[in-house]
Amino acid sequence: MWRRGVQNFSRRLAGTNDSTTSARNTATALAAFSAASATAWYTAKPSAQCDGFPALRRTGSTARTPDAAAFQGDAAAEAAMMSCASLAVAYQQAKAEVATVKAELQFVQDKYDYFWPRKIMMLFGAPGAGKGTQGPNITNTLGLPQLSTGDMLRDAVAAGTPTGVRAKEAMESGSLVTDDIVIGIISDRIKEADCGAGFILDGFPRTIEQAEALDKLLLQTGERVNLILAFDVPEEVLEERVCGRWMHKGSGRSYHVKFAPPRSMELDRNGQPIPLTMKDDETGEALYQRSDDTKEALKKRMAAYHKQTEPLLEHYRPKGIVKDIDGGQPIEKVTRAVMNSMSKQAMKH
Ligand code: ADP
Ligand code: ADP
Repeated sequence: MWRRGVQNFSRRLAGTNDSTTSARNTATALAAFSAASATAWYTAKPSAQCDGFPALRRTGSTARTPDAAAFQGDAAAEAAMMSCASLAVAYQQAKAEVATVKAELQFVQDKYDYFWPRKIMMLFGAPGAGKGTQGPNITNTLGLPQLSTGDMLRDAVAAGTPTGVRAKEAMESGSLVTDDIVIGIISDRIKEADCGAGFILDGFPRTIEQAEALDKLLLQTGERVNLILAFDVPEEVLEERVCGRWMHKGSGRSYHVKFAPPRSMELDRNGQPIPLTMKDDETGEALYQRSDDTKEALKKRMAAYHKQTEPLLEHYRPKGIVKDIDGGQPIEKVTRAVMNSMSKQAMKH
């Protein structure tokens, strides 16, 4: 019966629209394989499990040997085997199609990786300007990773790596860490595979030395920064933003007690958030406040921003790649402005 099933199956396939010899051969081989599997299954199972299939029930001394004669004429068993074989063929065909599509996609990706420059964006703005809030929207839209030197340094401090130990003091007081540390971090990071199509720099460069090192690094591969989104926010707004900020460590997502509260937030009798209720919307993990998000540290950070970072805009403006964004608007409006400014059309103006 098994052999007959295989022959029927092969004959049926030969009569279908799929007329290529190789497909027929594959189907025949698969049908034979399925039949063999079914036989092996039958041989291995105790007879109680074959109760639903009378033709498979074993008798007397032939209990562990499939007896072809016993299956003669049993349409149910044959149909079961046929559908098993059909499924196996369908599965193999689907798998082959997926492999073909994957190979085509890889070809296109390889072509872009080889010939096209990467999309290299920069988020520019004072502490609290909205870089960390808007970056994830760009990542979701373009699939580019957001590289925040602040997040990388905080991870290094938490892990107690040599870089973290060197950076800790400067970060806590609100000063910049030395150029060689951040240049080293970024030049390694942009070589990683997820930066293949481009990346979004957040918080780097912050000094003219860093900007020049970045330009030089990119020039090695014939690339350059293509777009800078410069968030302009009135200074008096920044303190409230920074002092009310809560962060999610794993993702770098930022929340705000007033402007972007997490869903879980509960207030005490004085209207202050209860720390234990501050949890990330997506993971439910605890949020934390940065040790440098204080009034005092902010003063020092703002001084460093005005003195060392702001002049960088003049380094990039003549290249025609700076887009100014009014970051003082509500979050959703800023998001819309960011999305509009990224189109090719916007680059013409
Ligand atoms: P940056 O990364 O530039 O330091 P963030 O994106 O972390 O700044 O924003 C600082 C704080 O301000 C966060 O708590 C954030 O939720 C809040 N925030 C960001 N953008 C706005 C906005 N447009 N309006 C009000 N609050 C904002
Ligand atoms: P924010 O944008 O809110 O000021 P970041 O998270 O970008 O904060 O940075 C936190 C701290 O990490 C900075 O105050 C500074 O000490 C250090 N840092 C981050 N990026 C750089 C950089 N490119 N150069 C020097 N120090 C940096």
